[in-house]
Order: sequence, then structure tokens, then C-alpha cells
Amino acid sequence: MNPNTCEICSKKIYKFYEINSFPINIYHEKKEYYKNKKLKLFLCKFCNHISIPKINSQNILYRSYKKKIFLTKYKNLNKINDKQPFLEISKEKPMFLKKLNIDHKSILNNEYLKINKKYKKIFIYDCISNIYKIKKFFKKISQSLEKKGEIEIFHHYGPGIIKNLNIDRVYFEHINNFSYKSLKILVKQYGLKIKSFKLFEKKNFFKAILVKKNLSLKNKILINYKFDVIKKKNITAFIKIINRIKFNLKSDIKKISENYNENHIYGYGASIGSVALIKFLDLEQHISKLIDDYTDLKVINLGNKNLKIQKQLTRKDENSIIINLAPRYKVKIRQSILKNKIKKITYIETLPNYSLIKKAY
Ligand SMILES: [Zn+2]
Repeated sequence: MNPNTCEICSKKIYKFYEINSFPINIYHEKKEYYKNKKLKLFLCKFCNHISIPKINSQNILYRSYKKKIFLTKYKNLNKINDKQPFLEISKEKPMFLKKLNIDHKSILNNEYLKINKKYKKIFIYDCISNIYKIKKFFKKISQSLEKKGEIEIFHHYGPGIIKNLNIDRVYFEHINNFSYKSLKILVKQYGLKIKSFKLFEKKNFFKAILVKKNLSLKNKILINYKFDVIKKKNITAFIKIINRIKFNLKSDIKKISENYNENHIYGYGASIGSVALIKFLDLEQHISKLIDDYTDLKVINLGNKNLKIQKQLTRKDENSIIINLAPRYKVKIRQSILKNKIKKITYIETLPNYSLIKKAY
């Protein structure tokens, strides 16, 4: 593939944003993972696909994934589907696999190309953006689907990155950020069609159901592409708003710092998405620690330095400035900070709108 053409529709793509140094793997303190690379974001104006160039050492990305806790999403399904297993393709192996009748393929080492059965239901959960051999992948799952079977895909929605400033989803793992149109174009090439397509969480996530192309559907979906289209003004706004947030952050941090002799700046939220926000908003020099109630991680590797992760706010954190780095959990984090016994804290939210929620003085 030509590096300047869209992998989905072969039209020309163009770069609309770039971050100078972005860590390839944030979970390891080892030197081999320290590597920082330029992260470039490309847009295809024809199919609205947003892509990030692949890295050669893709396996480094997924080495630290653990087993995930089983979600309740299969509960009802398993009743109907008792004898016949269904297939899940995802990053991590779910726990309690045997209890429920599920086959699992991970995306590590292209394991998804080794499916050797046919299924009535295939779930592609939280990983469609991460799949390197996307065309071989669709060829394989199309072959592995029974005549009247269904494929369910759930992941973040590409155009949301630009339109909703969903930049905490931007890192080297997410090379394909699908729009409705790019998904439609791709699946058609492999004998599939979209049966339904829904957006969730303020249009940051989508769920699509695919079926075989020749399966007749009672209710044909007629979707116009309007919601999907990314215009030049969307890109301009994207860049402008990021710059404005950076400016506001800088000036607020300066103002508040002048009121104290000593204060520290912490990020709330410790994940790869938090790293994306740190990089996008130029916070690397300012943030000295991360706070996260739910993670097992002790440290996050930013490439140039490591950030320690603390479980909760303590008395020692008084007079600090806390910046929300997990917009998805904004409401929860805001509540936990505002209800905290430690009152002398400044709290800032950045996305999708910049807001100085609480001042310490
Ligand atoms: Zn395209």
C-alpha cells in the first residue's frame, strides 16, 4: 500500500495533526519500550476514515494485556445459544470462558487469522481499530460466518476524534478509526453488509451488526452519510480548540501558581488515554503524578519520564492543581474531588470544554 493512500478505499489521504513524541508502550519501564515516535493523524476525505501509520513492532503494543473481567453482555445470548459456541475476538482473553460457551481469539500475533470453525455469532469487541491486517481479517471472519449469522462490532467511532475532540482515543494502537462509510466500503469487499449501525456515548462509540451480503433484510437501513462527513471547518475547529485549551491551561496554571509558594500539578486518570491528553495538551513538563482509583498500574511510561500512580488523594496533596485526564469518567471524578475532605484543591476539566471547576482559594 502506498503510504499516502487510504487502506480502505485507496483514495488520497492527508495529514491533519501530528504529535512530536509519543510512547509506543506506556506499561513498561524497560528501555526497549521507551521508544518515542512521531504520531501522525491522517484523514481520508472520501470515506471519512481516520488512520495512524502502522509501526513495525506492533507486538510491543499488546504484551501487557491481562485477562479481563467478564462483562454481562453475553448473559441473554447464552440462553439461546447453549450448544453452539460463539466467537469473541478481542484484545484480552475473558475470564470464565468455559462457563459460557465462548471461543476466543486475541489480536496478538494475528491470532484472529487462525479461526477454523463457522459461527452464528461473532463479536469483535473493543479492537477493530487495532487490527493490523484489516483486509485479511474481514476475509477471514466473512468465511467463518454462517449463512444467516451475524457479526457484532463495538468500538470507538472515528469521526468523533475530530468532531468531539475525542483525542484520548488517539495512540499507536488505534490505526483504523472507522466511520460508517469506511466500514461499509470495507465489508462490501468481503461479501458482507451493514444491518444496523448505532452511535453511543455522545457519538464516541459505535455498534454495527454485519450480515452476509445476499441475506435479505426486512427493514433495509437507509442511512445518509451526513452525520459521518468531516468537513474542512471541522478540522480547523479541532486544531483551534486544542490550541485554546492549551492556552487556557497555561494561563490558569500560571495564575494559580503565583498564589502559592508551593503547588503540584497532578493528572486524574491513569491510562493510555491519559497519556494521549498529556501529549496533546502539552502537559508533560507540568504533571508530576497521576491519581487513579481503579488501576493496578504503579507507573506510566511517558517515554522521557515515568509518572507514578497514586490510588487516592491524601492530605499531602493539599494545594495541588488536578487536571482531569479521563473525560469518559468526568462526572465520577468530579464528584469524588468535590466531595473529598481535602478542600484546598484546584480542579480543572479540559475536554470537550475547558472549565476551571474548583479553585483552592
Ligand atoms: Zn478512504
